[in-house]
Amino acid sequence: MKNQINLLNQLQELVLTRDEHHATGDGSHMDELDGFIDDLVSRLAPEVRSLYQRLYKKDHIVMSPMNNGCCAICGMRLPISQVQAVKQARQIQNCPSCARMLFFEEDEAPRWIGEKTSRTEPRKSGVGRFSAEELMIPDLKGSSTESAIRELACAMEANRFVSSADALVAGALRRESVLSTALGDGIAFPHVRGVEGGGLTLALGVSKKGFVFDDSGERVNIVFFSAIPTAASPFYLRLVKCLSEAFCKEENRKALVAAKTQADLWKTLTKATRYTIR
Ligand SMILES: [Zn+2]
Repeated sequence: MKNQINLLNQLQELVLTRDEHHATGDGSHMDELDGFIDDLVSRLAPEVRSLYQRLYKKDHIVMSPMNNGCCAICGMRLPISQVQAVKQARQIQNCPSCARMLFFEEDEAPRWIGEKTSRTEPRKSGVGRFSAEELMIPDLKGSSTESAIRELACAMEANRFVSSADALVAGALRRESVLSTALGDGIAFPHVRGVEGGGLTLALGVSKKGFVFDDSGERVNIVFFSAIPTAASPFYLRLVKCLSEAFCKEENRKALVAAKTQADLWKTLTKATRYTIR
């Protein structure tokens, strides 16, 4: 059953990539993505395929990673016998609460390790809910997609937001290989989904000179890098829209590029998004 679960996970990632492209891209790759998706669906065993199609009608997130013995999407604590069964992966296991298909990742998947906000702390607002000054890089050193992503992933690891920068880089490059996340105006949104254990984390890097981001030759100088828990995928789409809205304005992009220090960049991001991200 493990290979079927792998197929289902690839399928899930493609479907969510298509949703992203539909919501935030120009729609030019829809046919190509649909073709990949149809191919994967045809490779599912018939009973798995019908289960997949039934769940897909309700929600596009049909696969749920098991996290600390709970369904990561709805939060339901699973019976111990089911936790074992999910790990063994001999049969498809459905969450008793939301019915999604559960899976367990054994490898070194990146995880959210940020501090849980204590109840006494004032609630943060705006972009401060999922980013921080330490995650701003006003002058990216490298001039390739991989090196930009690596600098941002290392900032997440070094500041104890997410574990395993290497796994983040690998995940983000895998996602880029399906479809570039450069969305015009010199801005790219590389990301990794399935970073469970907490909230969405956003880092921002600016390259003063800019660099070629993908095979189409698109140049990028502003990079928003996100680590996303699967359950936050719909929220991530709204976030990309909010950021695109704020930075389709040239003066806001210029202000990001002009920022000299981490503090400047953080202030500029906060200011430019104060009405779009609440
Ligand atoms: Zn569930």
